[in-house]
Amino acid sequence: MPSLIAEQLEAVRQRIAVAERMAGRPAGSVRVIAVSKGHPAAALREAFRAGQRHFGENYLQEALPKQDALANEPGLIWHFIGPLQSNKTRLIASRFDWVHSVERLKIAERLSEHRPPELPPQNVCLQVNISREGSKSGVSVEDLPALAAGVVQLPRLRLRGLMAIPAPTDDQRQHAQPFRALRQAMENLALPGLDTLSMGMSDDLEAAVAEGATLVRIGTAIFGLRAG
Ligand SMILES: *Cc1c(COP(=O)(O)O)cnc(C)c1O
Repeated sequence: MPSLIAEQLEAVRQRIAVAERMAGRPAGSVRVIAVSKGHPAAALREAFRAGQRHFGENYLQEALPKQDALANEPGLIWHFIGPLQSNKTRLIASRFDWVHSVERLKIAERLSEHRPPELPPQNVCLQVNISREGSKSGVSVEDLPALAAGVVQLPRLRLRGLMAIPAPTDDQRQHAQPFRALRQAMENLALPGLDTLSMGMSDDLEAAVAEGATLVRIGTAIFGLRAG
């Protein structure tokens, strides 16, 4: 019998497949990052057994023991999606394939400096503060071009695109606007090699896929409610 996590993962995949079709996008153009904050390594392993390979974590201290527990599972790709502190950049640069939450050049410089030479450049997204009443995190749309211009110069980072966490809203019709703004912000940058829009969570993934998301970050819909 499939586990609950396997079933919920399958339901998320179905939602994405429908959203891709509705948007006229090719099947498989949207990738799921399973956001596992607040859930134990055993939950990640269940998702892994059901074929999930991309995992997102918000807190370094919580992520490290889970990464160690899953170290023997081949092909895992780790995404750091939480707030970045400068005293954590060394481990984040060495233990994650992607960082989605870059909002300051200083932190990007430290990640580049600490990225181990034997690893490929670290994939990064710039977090943009896209909705006015939303979280305070992220670079403003006004300051984004300067940050992007700085980050593309860094030898050990590869700028892939943008990430946003829009303000929560119960009104489905309000979901599209911030996602559209993020896509527009990436188009305005007009930089080569940008191929990633990290946007959409459990409650709003359909709107994000409709507006061009390539990575959706899904926690609750896969793993259930978090404690606390
Ligand atoms: C927790 C979190 C998610 C997942 O949110 P759900 O609503 O549980 O799907 C996605 N992105 C970030 C940055 C998060 O912190």
